[in-house]
Amino acid sequence: MRITGYKSHGVGAAAALVNAVTSRDGDDGDDALRAVLAEHGFFVQRFTPATAAELRPWARTLRPFFEAESLDTAVTLLNRLLADVPMHPHLADHDELGLHVHYAPPEVELAHRVRATTLMNLAELLCDHGLDRIGVCAAAGCDRVYADDSRGGRRRFCSDACANRTNVAAHRARRRAAP
Ligand SMILES: [Zn+2]
Repeated sequence: MRITGYKSHGVGAAAALVNAVTSRDGDDGDDALRAVLAEHGFFVQRFTPATAAELRPWARTLRPFFEAESLDTAVTLLNRLLADVPMHPHLADHDELGLHVHYAPPEVELAHRVRATTLMNLAELLCDHGLDRIGVCAAAGCDRVYADDSRGGRRRFCSDACANRTNVAAHRARRRAAP
């Protein structure tokens, strides 16, 4: 599932990295992590095994943000990370977006660019919507997270597959309960 329409690609990349590294059915191999970045608009030419080795702990660091049960918890966690991750904002004008701000200049390591971008985009999402747009999938037995930057913002599942499975189960339960 692609996340589109938000200011940048870091929101979707953050959720996808967390799922790849920390969920039971995730694949945190080098190729899988490279694919996650490519899918979410990062330039991956400079992806190396060292990049993957840095992204795994970052994904584990971000997971508690998606699990946060209060705004205070989420804000505290992001503020701690914002203090830890060096930010070097950089103006870029390389595509149809027009002039825009990147959270890392082009020469930094890819893993650092991913940390800065995912962190700032999650912070923006939290400022705009509070906790409404992040969470752990509501499907029974699924431990994947989601981040919803769509206009409607009603997402509660990590994927269409989980949403459909849950709806079918609920429908069957209602039929059984009917007289
Ligand atoms: Zn799910």
